[in-house]
Amino acid sequence: MPPSPRGIDSPGADGTGKTETGRVASQETAPLTIVPFYCGSQRSLLEPLAKELMAAFSLPVERQPPGFDPEMAYDSARGQYNSRILLALLLRHHQGPGKLLGVTDADLFIPVLTFVFGEAQLDGRVALVSSHRLVPERYGLPADPAQLQARLAKEAIHELGHTFGLVHCANGRCVMASSPQLTGVDLKTARFCVDCRDALRRRRSRPSTAGP
Ligand SMILES: [Zn+2]
Ligand SMILES: [Zn+2]
Repeated sequence: MPPSPRGIDSPGADGTGKTETGRVASQETAPLTIVPFYCGSQRSLLEPLAKELMAAFSLPVERQPPGFDPEMAYDSARGQYNSRILLALLLRHHQGPGKLLGVTDADLFIPVLTFVFGEAQLDGRVALVSSHRLVPERYGLPADPAQLQARLAKEAIHELGHTFGLVHCANGRCVMASSPQLTGVDLKTARFCVDCRDALRRRRSRPSTAGP
């Protein structure tokens, strides 16, 4: 069994910015890989999302099929998919130095929460985001493709920000602001505040601590 991913965006994730050692510089320049699964009618969100991520992180973005069966993360009692298990599956089945982002329309949960929009490994490789709870129609509102796209981009950039070691930001307009509810998602922008942008730059320029 691979080590269980350390999730953030869950209670108890205190954002103290624990770091790992032995990281290699290439991890911060390798392409970012989107792994879509169970996207259903939301597949059209993927191409614009890739462009948003390319711009946000200045990295090439690739796409790969999941390489695992997402049903392994299904919880029949809840009718939802366990986010923590999906993070572990993504890690196990997608080797390589770059960051991974699972994108799905499946409804995600962690055991102590009703749902999560996404989850990520703090200062790790893997993140996950779901459009399921971001869809306006789910709340009896008219369809709004632009709003849905914006919400998904914010949540994806936020979760990937965690994989680069960024923690939650007190600036409610910053993409790294914690937003467990949709109101918070809509209030924030898809951009890093000055402090988070600086932190991201510093973290990505860290010298390699690994041997040759
Ligand atoms: Zn977060
Ligand atoms: Zn910030």
